[in-house]
Amino acid sequence: MNHPIPKPDQYQDMREALRDLCGSFDSAYWQKVDHERDYPEAFVDAMAKAGWLAALIPEEYGGSGLGLAEASVIMEEINFSGGNAGSCHGQMYNMGTLLRHGSDLQKKLYLPKIATGELRLQSMAVTEPTTGTDTTKLKTTAVKKGDKYIVNGQKVWISRIQHSDLMILLARTTPLAEVKKKSEGMSIFIVNLKDAIGNGMAIQPIANMVNHETNEVFFDNLEIPAENLIGEEGKGFKYILDGLNAERVLIAAECIGDAYWFVDKSRRYANERVVFDRPIGKNQGIQFPIADAFIETEAANLMRFKACELFDNNQACGAESNMAKYLAAKASWEAANVCLQTHGGFGFANEYDVERKFRETRLYQVAPISTNLIYSYVAEHILGLPRSF
Ligand SMILES: Cc1cc2nc3c(=O)[nH]c(=O)nc-3n(C[C@H](O)[C@H](O)[C@H](O)COP(=O)(O)OP(=O)(O)OC[C@H]3O[C@@H](n4cnc5c(N)ncnc54)[C@H](O)[C@@H]3O)c2cc1C
Repeated sequence: MNHPIPKPDQYQDMREALRDLCGSFDSAYWQKVDHERDYPEAFVDAMAKAGWLAALIPEEYGGSGLGLAEASVIMEEINFSGGNAGSCHGQMYNMGTLLRHGSDLQKKLYLPKIATGELRLQSMAVTEPTTGTDTTKLKTTAVKKGDKYIVNGQKVWISRIQHSDLMILLARTTPLAEVKKKSEGMSIFIVNLKDAIGNGMAIQPIANMVNHETNEVFFDNLEIPAENLIGEEGKGFKYILDGLNAERVLIAAECIGDAYWFVDKSRRYANERVVFDRPIGKNQGIQFPIADAFIETEAANLMRFKACELFDNNQACGAESNMAKYLAAKASWEAANVCLQTHGGFGFANEYDVERKFRETRLYQVAPISTNLIYSYVAEHILGLPRSF
């Protein structure tokens, strides 16, 4: 039977197949990995084996060559099933940088193995502790010496390193003082984590609010073979920006999956829970906030599919991708709040999953881009207001 939330659409066959797979990882599974701060290895393996995480890899490299719309449905369905796509979304989109800017040799070397899941490219190291959102001031350096680059510096909040074979690293190759524009002089590299950790790279896991494996990273004369440079030296920041629209839309889809999960969970509970001799959902004070959360989610969903359509037709979609991420992260957070309130005390009990999903969806107002930075993008690039930083 088709599920009423979200409404059936042109991706229904895909949704059904994903619901079959995701359905075998039930609420008890996600509660256990959350409780034990464990990595959902079996789930990620199953998703990779079924080919879902290779959706965006072209067929010539062993992927399914699907569009962003289909890829976003995959992320949405994971979260709508009660799971957390944050454990594996990097595997879907980090390879985009390699696909767009890597050499033929690099693509042939890595992409087919990423497509099968034999190699995991789950990590992307951009953020640094002292510079945060002000990325162009990052202090990690990569200095070319012969056929190697020597890397020194520090990163923070770098996710899934312990469950990845490869990591994309952004580092400065020309000092800030020597470039015309601050966005120039940074480069990206592919780091083989098995070789690097313990040989110039060290990690320190960060205990945090959600079950999200993320780390501090320290580089002390890490040697990277020069052939691991992706694209041209000095253009790394631009390459990272090129991948952001797809990332924003996929995260938006995760939020939409969460938001529909919260709305569905709320409406079911509101119909079942009887207090004062009637279902609590009979009270407008309960049903209106659920209706409001649903309306906001539907609106965010329209912007998400608008961004997908533009992206899949190779049209500019910076505004739509950012606005989809903004609307979806807001809708999922508001739906989470409504769901917790609808459940009363039971919302706090682990077994209902509400408190876990509430924590998980909160992240998306901060990472991978915080809401203020989306406001500033729209203000400057769409509305023509002065740049504020
Ligand atoms: C669980 C988790 C996983 C992450 N995974 C990764 C990862 O895999 N790779 C990676 O590179 N990074 C990762 N990040 C980092 C994430 O991208 C950053 O936390 C985020 O971009 C915000 O940067 P910051 O924490 O340094 O905040 P800061 O830059 O210190 O900003 C703090 C607050 O001030 C606001 N602010 C800053 N400047 C302005 C301004 N000019 N105007 C208005 N408001 C402003 C910000 O919006 C934010 O709300 C992760 C973070 C978390 C929490």
